[in-house]
Amino acid sequence: MGKPCVGVLALQGAFREHAASVARLGAETREVRQLKDMDGIDAMIIPGGESTTMGKLLVEWGMLDPLRQRIEKGMPVYGSCAGLILLCREIENSDQPRLGVLDAVVRRNAFGRQVDSFETELDIPELGQSPIPAVFIRAPVLTGVGPRARVLAQVNGQAVAVRQDNVLATSFHPELTPDTRLHRYFLEMCGN
Ligand code: GLN
Repeated sequence: MGKPCVGVLALQGAFREHAASVARLGAETREVRQLKDMDGIDAMIIPGGESTTMGKLLVEWGMLDPLRQRIEKGMPVYGSCAGLILLCREIENSDQPRLGVLDAVVRRNAFGRQVDSFETELDIPELGQSPIPAVFIRAPVLTGVGPRARVLAQVNGQAVAVRQDNVLATSFHPELTPDTRLHRYFLEMCGN
């Protein structure tokens, strides 16, 4: 396979930064705003933002079911923060549209109002020896992870990065840091 064409869902949120991280690694990117933009993409990134808004727009634009089907057929997908929420099977504290392809239970805004945002460093052995910088913004945590999903990183004993086959999800925003290891890992999942 040549360079993968990575779609970045561009309905709302921090999509430009993801596209820039992927482009820096030499992959082609495409902003996905409507169903036809998904034609010919090899993978998809669902950015951070507001998961309720993004879910509603996916339904309104008729993209939720087609995207779920593509992922179920094996298309690699990476969701960060709101993107992670949209991927989960169950959202503890909300009944909102979602893709539900990741066998995990998520709690939105899990760090509470007082610690709205913070930056830390996480050990993710699969990404290399040195810890990776991670920015958390009104971030979720996974309170339950099914047997098919592998936890890649934790904060306070709770999962904040997981991989399940072709699905990668993080509670944090690697696209807001200069460290591209997470995006590189995702491109490897895309066969690059
Ligand atoms: N709190 C947001 C939500 O629930 C996610 C925040 C983010 O993506 N930075 O959708």
